[in-house]
This record gives sequence, structure tokens and C-alpha cells, in this order.
Amino acid sequence: MSNDGTSSPLDRHVDPTPPPISQPTTGNASDGSVLPHSNGNGTDDNGGQQNGVVVPSYTTTRLRLNPNADHKPDSYENLDLDFSPFLFSSLESYLPSNLLSLSRDVKVTYMRDVLLRYSPESERVRFQKHREYRQKIISNYQRLHMELYTMHATTFFVPSFLKAINENTEQGFRNIMSEPTPGIFTFEMLQPHFCEMLLAEVENFEKWVHETKFRIMRPNTMNKYGAVLDDFGMETMLDKFMEEFIRPISKVFFPEVGGSTLDAHHGFVVEYGMDRDLDLGFHVDDSEVTLNVCLGKQFSGGELFFRGVRCEKHVNTETQSEEIFDYPHLPGRAVLHRGRHRHGARATTSGNRINLLLWCKSSVFRELRKYQKEFPSWCAECQREKKERQHQSVTAAKLVKLKFSNQSVLLPNW
Ligand SMILES: [Zn+2]
Repeated sequence: MSNDGTSSPLDRHVDPTPPPISQPTTGNASDGSVLPHSNGNGTDDNGGQQNGVVVPSYTTTRLRLNPNADHKPDSYENLDLDFSPFLFSSLESYLPSNLLSLSRDVKVTYMRDVLLRYSPESERVRFQKHREYRQKIISNYQRLHMELYTMHATTFFVPSFLKAINENTEQGFRNIMSEPTPGIFTFEMLQPHFCEMLLAEVENFEKWVHETKFRIMRPNTMNKYGAVLDDFGMETMLDKFMEEFIRPISKVFFPEVGGSTLDAHHGFVVEYGMDRDLDLGFHVDDSEVTLNVCLGKQFSGGELFFRGVRCEKHVNTETQSEEIFDYPHLPGRAVLHRGRHRHGARATTSGNRINLLLWCKSSVFRELRKYQKEFPSWCAECQREKKERQHQSVTAAKLVKLKFSNQSVLLPNW
């Protein structure tokens, strides 16, 4: 997905999963709600019947500008839909209150109609193809550890992490985290047993791929080794992982990049070593917030290097000395950072290193970014330029003042 439209010599990760459909924002209504485009096919402007379900009228029903935070959306996972079931769950919170209590079928019909009018044909075809690809894997691959495929917080996470999540306060999070440089948080997260099971599952999956010669898609444009966990059945578990364990933290530490509205993820593992990917070049992720957890194995090298947060326009600008930060991985320990925090991984010089990556995205943030003319607060270079301009205008004002006062001294006193 390209949300900036710029080409840059700096490699960008490209997400092979279909992008979430952005929340429609056209036609702002005076009451603060968002009115969808004019009516599409198959529905009646005054409300009507379609396939046996009553379709709400677009003249009276509108999407809300802000989600209904108290509403617990339905699950759409067991339906055969042409958009991601998680997208329906996310969009549901934006439905007007009078629709929320209606049956799931009615809500699906309404939301699907909205989505169809905002989603290009090519994206839908891509989503359909990817869904078929996943279904083919899921129906053929024999899982090794069933317990990995549903969220079991107490067996996945270390107690200190769970305690902080339950407290859900900034102080609670800070108690378990260190922030060695602004915007990079590291903390103990995964149980060793969980890491072992996940490593074994990935190994088992790779073995199956090798034996069946199944052509799998690698996690992104830069990693040749590794696997997309969402593609072999972990999508639902990882969605919970993001919603319940990453979003609460991101809401506190990354609100300016959509941390509180994360609604889509791309979950994968990457493998480094002499016989795998050796290192990873300097890049930014296609995410708002990235979680990177070392699952382990014995290795040396492989440090992450960070070089400051940049917007699309400034992605290749110089690094300031205070932005230089290197991080050595420790098994089980997580690193959480903004997707646009420029980084790379140094060569893993011996052994194998396997990391779990969860790219968390916010469709709301991406949609809003399209309309923002303002320089983003999170780009260090934008802020530096802004300060520079302020400094220049202050200096200019002082000069004017100085010139004026000099003149006033020279003026005769009568
Ligand atoms: Zn910038």
C-alpha cells in the first residue's frame, strides 16, 4: 500500500496483505457525523428491501465521525465476506446508534455497501486472491501447537507485562518499560515456553512448505526468509494480541500516529543467520506502530539501529547525533516503536535469530493524514524546520525592533 505516493531511494516495506479500507470521510454533515457518498447500487435512497434484509436509508443514516467507544462490535469471522472480517468489526463502531442493535446481517449489508463504494476493484480482487491463498494453506497445513492459535494471555505473556496491561495506566507501563531513547520502548513480554512453541510451529510450517513445494509469500519486500503468521491461521489470535495488548500501550505513548485507533495488523516472523537473511537495510515500516520481539535461538550480532522518526517527505534527511541509537536483542524482550522510526538490523554474525514482528496500523490515521496540510508533530525534521522558521521570524522581528529603536534615538526630541 502506498499512502504517500512518493518514490524514495529508501526501501519501504510493502505489506502483501490487502490494506484496510479507510473510513469514508466525504460529505461532512453539520452534526459532526460523516455522510457517505450518494447512493450506490442495489439500495433504495428511502430505505428498501434487498435480499430479504431491510437496508437503512442513506438519507437518514450516517456514519459517525468518532467511533462509539462503549460499543462491543459483533464478530464477522465466520462469514464469507469480500472484505476482512476485522474491517467490519472496526467499522461497526462508526455506525449510527440506531443501527447498532440491529441484526448482524443488516449491519453487514449496510457496511458492505459503504465499503464497495470506497474500495477500488483492484484491491477487492487482490483481497479475494489472498483469501483463497490463505484458505488453501489453512486447509492443508497440520498445526503442531493448537494452543498458539487462540489467545491464552497467561501462557503467552510474563506476569509483569500482564499486570501492567491490567492496570492500564502510563505509570504502570513505565514501571515495566525502559525508554532508552525517545519513542523506543523495551520490555519483557513473552514467556520462554511461548517463544519455544512459536519457533517450533514456524519450523514445522517451513518443513511443510518444503515438503509440499507450496509457494508461499514472504513477509515483505526485504526479507527473503520468514513466514506470515496470519497466512497459516494466526490472524484472529494476532488481532486480539494487537487490540488487547498493543493498542492500550500505543494509546498512551503514540497517540499522534493513531496509537489509539490501531485496527489492522500484519504479523510475521523473520529469520536471520548465515544461511538466512544476514541483515536488513535501513528502512521504515508500513505501520503506525511496530512490535518486534526476539523469539530467540543462539546468536551474536543482529543489533537494531535506529535513526530518528521521519515523515514521507523527510525520510532521507540527515540523522542528528542524538537520534543515533543501537539496540541488542534479548530473547523474550520486546521493542515497540513508531513505524516511521527509521531503522535497520546489523548482520547476525553467528547462529540464528528469529523475531516476531507485528505491524499495527490505523486506517483512521491514514485517512486523516491525506487531508493534513500541517507538518506532523512526530517528524523530527519537520519540527526542526518549524523551529528554524520560528527562530528566523523572531530574529527578523528583533532586527526590525532594533532598527526602529535606533532610529528613535536619532530622532530629535521635539
Ligand atoms: Zn517531516
